[in-house]
Amino acid sequence: MTPYDGNAIAGVLEEVFGHDMTAADCVCAECGRTGVVAEVAVYLGGPGAVARCRSCDNVLLVITERRAMYCVDLTGFSHLATP
Ligand SMILES: [Zn+2]
Repeated sequence: MTPYDGNAIAGVLEEVFGHDMTAADCVCAECGRTGVVAEVAVYLGGPGAVARCRSCDNVLLVITERRAMYCVDLTGFSHLATP
C-alpha cells in the first residue's frame, strides 16, 4: 500500500488542534527523525488514519472518529510543536 503524506490528514488535524498542523515540527520517539507533519507516511482506509515514520516505520499517530468525537494517539512522537 502506497502511503499518502501528512497533507492527507490536514483537515482532521486542523479540527483537532484548531489550526494547520502540517508545518508542525515533529520528532519520532523511536529513531529521532525530525521533520514536519506533512512529511510523515499516512495510511487511510482502516477504522482510522495511521501516520508512520518514514525512517523506522514507527506509528507516530493514530486518529479515529466515533460518535462525532476524535480519539488521537500521539505517543509515537517525542516532540510535536505547532508552527
Ligand atoms: Zn522513526
